[in-house]
Amino acid sequence: MDWQAIDRFILLAGLVLLAPVGFGAALLVANDMAPEHINQMYVPGLLWLYSLHIILLGTMIGLAFQRRKYDSDWPAFENTIIASYIVTILTSAFLTGSHYGEGLLLIFLGVNITGTLASVNKIRFSYWIVVPILVAMGIADHIQAIPHAPLLVQPMTEADGRPLFGWLIVRDIIVVILSFLIYLCILAMKRWTERENLYLEMSTTDGLTRLSNRNFFINRGQEEIDRTREQTLKSASTLACIMIDLDHFKKINDTWGHHAGDQVLVAASKVMLKNARNTDEVGRYGGEEFAMLLPATSLKKAAHIAERLRRKISDMNVIVDGNSIDVTASFGVACFPTSDVDSMEDLLKAADKALYEAKETGRNKVVTA
Ligand code: GH3
Ligand code: MG
Ligand code: MG
Repeated sequence: MDWQAIDRFILLAGLVLLAPVGFGAALLVANDMAPEHINQMYVPGLLWLYSLHIILLGTMIGLAFQRRKYDSDWPAFENTIIASYIVTILTSAFLTGSHYGEGLLLIFLGVNITGTLASVNKIRFSYWIVVPILVAMGIADHIQAIPHAPLLVQPMTEADGRPLFGWLIVRDIIVVILSFLIYLCILAMKRWTERENLYLEMSTTDGLTRLSNRNFFINRGQEEIDRTREQTLKSASTLACIMIDLDHFKKINDTWGHHAGDQVLVAASKVMLKNARNTDEVGRYGGEEFAMLLPATSLKKAAHIAERLRRKISDMNVIVDGNSIDVTASFGVACFPTSDVDSMEDLLKAADKALYEAKETGRNKVVTA
């Protein structure tokens, strides 16, 4: 979640409030419908405990709303929420004898939800404290070291074993709360995945042109070099690289403005993408410098493709604010493997050298290494 910590804790406290509210409501319903099944001795104390949690969390939520105006974090609030949840779960698990069933399920759910809202370290710590306690409670229950389900005087069933109506209602209340929590877990996971995809895109793509960024381009190039190296063992295969630099781009910026320059970059990128094959990689290598990787392509074929691109770019009509801007580009083409190209670095250097020569000998032309 990208909210500030205190806002996440407010949401978390609201969710954790569901535990004492839900359990309190369930206790009241069960006590109303089947009082003879419930140990009355525990009812007032338990209702007090739930009320106390509700008052504590409610008050802290109120205070947090004040505090969020000047502070983005409140660790004591976070600790109270986690502790409150644990106490509610442990007490209810002990009193109803459901250490393994609902107890564990609620802890797992708690971990899932808090995982996106609170500190992972605190959750991990709490988990490794609570789970052994639940297990120990189960064992202590079995060897009769503690009373079994002291809240329930007799099983919540009819004489023939069918569940009591009151108990069904209690279960339904819990099911509704759990379903809501599971729905929130799914929402959080969805958001998480979306953000991961966004980060992935941001780290591999250039924001203006949507082409691969320099880093991604070089990594892909490295992979293609390795693949080509393997393939050349079986049959002659080459990887071509075209370096492209727009001509006198500074002049375009100076004459028509930076905004127009950006539009020219986008238009040129579109031409490159449109003319690339699915297996090719087109990247923005620098400001107004682009690079293309063409797997399984000979130097001659790549020069041909570069020449076609050169023509398309110079034929391009970029209209910005009613002005028609003329654009040309220079191209350097190289391929791997050759006598002096044995790595991605060599390939880029060779293409760049050819590009430099294209610039030196008149621009708007293709030079092969
Ligand atoms: P040459 O033909 O020798 O390549 O000349 P040039 O003017 O294209 O090359 P130079 O390296 O002198 O200038 C490149 C310019 O590209 C300078 C820089 O301000 C501009 N530039 C770099 N990135 C961007 C961008 O994202 N948007 C815009 N509008 N301009 C950019
Ligand atoms: Mg340039
Ligand atoms: Mg340049």
